[in-house]
Amino acid sequence: MSQPTISFEFFPPKSEAMEAKLWDAVSRLAPLAPDFVSVTYGAGGSTRERTHRTVKRILDETSLQPAAHLTCVAASKAEVDEVLREYWAAGVRHIVALRGDPPTGVGTKFEPHPDGYMNATEVTAAARRIADFEISVSFYPEKHPESPSLQHDIDVLKAKIDAGATRAISQFFCEADVYLRFRDAAAKAGVTIPLLPGIMPVGNVAGYTRMATSTGTSIPPWFAQAFEGLDQSPEVRDMVAASVAADLCLKLQAEGVDRFHFYTLNRAELSLATCRRLGLKTPTTDKDAA
Ligand code: FAD
Repeated sequence: MSQPTISFEFFPPKSEAMEAKLWDAVSRLAPLAPDFVSVTYGAGGSTRERTHRTVKRILDETSLQPAAHLTCVAASKAEVDEVLREYWAAGVRHIVALRGDPPTGVGTKFEPHPDGYMNATEVTAAARRIADFEISVSFYPEKHPESPSLQHDIDVLKAKIDAGATRAISQFFCEADVYLRFRDAAAKAGVTIPLLPGIMPVGNVAGYTRMATSTGTSIPPWFAQAFEGLDQSPEVRDMVAASVAADLCLKLQAEGVDRFHFYTLNRAELSLATCRRLGLKTPTTDKDAA
């Protein structure tokens, strides 16, 4: 089996300690030669400067290709366009174009800025108009919480592709079948761009469960049982997390999936261990050996 193409997602750090943790993760994952590394954008543009700084540092100090996430929450069209122009001028060539969650919380009604873009389709079109970006968008194998049906989600994905998206990255999920069903339905509907499964190894059981609840990701009973009570035993939790994530990736790989996007949460070990099971190796460093 040929080696898969991988990518990693990071979030912009809030403090010096978190900054050190992020760069430790970036430097340990870089030898896996990811296709790109993406940096998230905080709710309502709250991390605009930090996202920009992190993306710029990746450009300046590594040979990695950064992808900057961008949402249209609480921003006018002119402001979003300005951010896109700034990224292009800084040398960024890949945007993850998103709508973003309502500032009032997931599940509440999204109110666009009065002069703003309505959704990710419009952000994608803006990025395509402004420069020759590579554009990734999101998709939801268990449907977006606001969406009436999976078919609607596939229609939205197709609209984003028509607007210029060249790749889509999934919300995280626990079971391979969830992703495979969406992939097959999308292919039947004529979607041909790469659909990357978003793999989130469990870094913290309480946090994972909270995120799953708010994003509509279902947690099967076997999964919940495997992690029950393990936040008190982080070393055991990490071993279970790596093994569960590797099983998921291997099942997907057996079904022909050859690209994987890892939600790293700025930690290297779980993604490193999972990538090893996919046949990808880094030279072992002292730290990894410790
Ligand atoms: P869209 O694709 O725009 O979909 C949202 C809703 O808008 C859909 O349910 C649909 O009903 C409607 N819609 C969209 N296009 C059309 C159309 N053409 N016609 C009719 N209706 C339409 N959030 C952040 O704040 N920062 C991040 O960095 C971030 N990164 C993410 C990365 C990934 C891979 C994923 C999966 C999600 C990410 N999110 C992020 C979360 C995301 O912002 C939320 O899930 C948000 O609620 C929806 O954003 P979207 O881009 O998926 O929206």
